[in-house]
Amino acid sequence: MSAHRVRPETAVLTRGFDPRLSVGAARPPVYRSSTYVFSSPEAAERAFAAAFGRTEPGVNEVSDLIYARLSHPNAEIVEDQLVPLEPGARAAAVFNSGMAALSTVMLALLQPGSAIVYTLPLYGGTHHLIQHLIKPLGIDAYPVDAGDTMGLTNAIARTSNLRLVLVETPANPTLVMTDIAAASAAIRKRSAPALLAVDNTLLGPAFQHPLNLGADLVIYSATKFLGGFSDLLAGVVMASEVELITRMRHLRSLLGNILQADECWILDSRLSTVSLRMNRQSKNAQRIATRLAEHPAIKRVYYPSLFSDPEQCRIRDAQTDFPGSLITLEFKGGKPAAFDFLRRLTIARNAVSLGGLESLACHPLTTTHSELTPEDLARAGINESMVRISVGTEHWRDLLDDFLSALSG
Ligand SMILES: *Cc1c(COP(=O)(O)O)cnc(C)c1O
Repeated sequence: MSAHRVRPETAVLTRGFDPRLSVGAARPPVYRSSTYVFSSPEAAERAFAAAFGRTEPGVNEVSDLIYARLSHPNAEIVEDQLVPLEPGARAAAVFNSGMAALSTVMLALLQPGSAIVYTLPLYGGTHHLIQHLIKPLGIDAYPVDAGDTMGLTNAIARTSNLRLVLVETPANPTLVMTDIAAASAAIRKRSAPALLAVDNTLLGPAFQHPLNLGADLVIYSATKFLGGFSDLLAGVVMASEVELITRMRHLRSLLGNILQADECWILDSRLSTVSLRMNRQSKNAQRIATRLAEHPAIKRVYYPSLFSDPEQCRIRDAQTDFPGSLITLEFKGGKPAAFDFLRRLTIARNAVSLGGLESLACHPLTTTHSELTPEDLARAGINESMVRISVGTEHWRDLLDDFLSALSG
């Protein structure tokens, strides 16, 4: 049976790797080689012409590999295996961090005089990248509040020289959701072309499928759920247009930010369990969020299944399959109560990052979001009473006990 006719859980284990090319190894070996021997000088000439876009490789023609900064077997394998996990994707490119993926997308698509529209809040590093690298290049950058469908539609319609719309949904740490399909529809109405990129780190690839909602690019910090064990840094860009990924790969070979062989191999071994892990983490989080919402010391629990705003409920139901594993707690006792809670945890650890098997908790205002101005914090709805929890795969009753005892002191 051909690999593209099986379901994702099967494809992730069967495509991208042919044991006959690796002395029969059942799992892909690690190819630690910086350079590759050409089969002939003519093959070298053809490989260079194809790599730099001077010729198209023929159908069924396999170009010789050249040099590991351009690509290497472990990158090709993991890229092939990522594709079936993202509905609508036809190609993937791997990077050595989520930030490397995001910066490559921006530098590939934005030129001086062009513009980007983005949702606020963004991941701290992405926000910093736009403020301190993209804007000084002479690129206009316009924020729109997460969840403001009308504001986003208007910004897309009105911004001249718009090239890129970057949506991060749900927003971190408030989990406010932005309507991907509405952003896509607004872009299609423009006469001049712009692309829609979605940072899908928080709910993808299991629970949210932006390419099927009209996005052109899906970006991941694979450091989070894709990697899943908090032991590697990686980034991924996926698209339904193969040509878009080819452009990202060309820039990647100039910036030198391809994911290295060992990291590709580790990431590859995690892909077949990403859906299992995310489902378990989401179930755990849902049970915990529901119970903590009733606790007298808690002012509010931010979690998708607890949304009450009708517009947010509409977007959630239209574009997400499960609520995911991030919970933000807002304490009645302000920052002291938030810090006491973090100090008293014994199972969950006080650390930034998310998506790993182990539960982590942090105080966004003083850590992940400490670079936002007071105005941006207010717009993003982030305050000093909040703690963000990334729920892992521990038994949910043990985690709930840990949270309840940390709450009661
Ligand atoms: C972590 C994260 C990033 C950055 O990824 P790195 O792998 O740390 O470079 C970008 N976006 C989101 C939503 C993230 O959570």
